[in-house]
Amino acid sequence: MTVVFQGGQSMPAKIGTPFLKGNVPWNKGLAINNTEMFWSQVMKTNSCWNWTGGVRSKRHPYGTFNINGKRWLAHRYSYFLSTGKTPKTLDHLCRNILCVNPKHLECVSSRVNTQRGNSAKLSSNSISVIRQLYEIGRNQPYIASLFGVGQWQISRIINLKQWNNI
Ligand SMILES: [Zn+2]
Repeated sequence: MTVVFQGGQSMPAKIGTPFLKGNVPWNKGLAINNTEMFWSQVMKTNSCWNWTGGVRSKRHPYGTFNINGKRWLAHRYSYFLSTGKTPKTLDHLCRNILCVNPKHLECVSSRVNTQRGNSAKLSSNSISVIRQLYEIGRNQPYIASLFGVGQWQISRIINLKQWNNI
């Protein structure tokens, strides 16, 4: 069985692919495969599995990991290892972008993604109105329908997970 990696290059799915043949920087000569190398950089806790290796950039501090010269986002690689899939968009349900626990990752359909993108359309004024409506006892589905957004979004606003500076 072979898996097609991003970019169309294929490689054996089984564990055992040597990592940088004979040139493992911190353990020369020992055959270490990509998967072992990957997990050696993950610190597991009871909930999140935190990536401790390199990150993409200061602005977008997602974990990154190189496989045969190809750069992967760490959470995407972890998701791939557990599901065999590389969906276009993966969302962190735990909101911890360094987390690579596949259980905390959700494959987001393009529809939901567009909806989430729409969140930017809510003005800071709407945010306070949403919180006030909730405080006076309006329920979340009702508020969501008023603003034409998903209920998950209302919930995040109320729970201060988004726009908590407002
Ligand atoms: Zn997590």
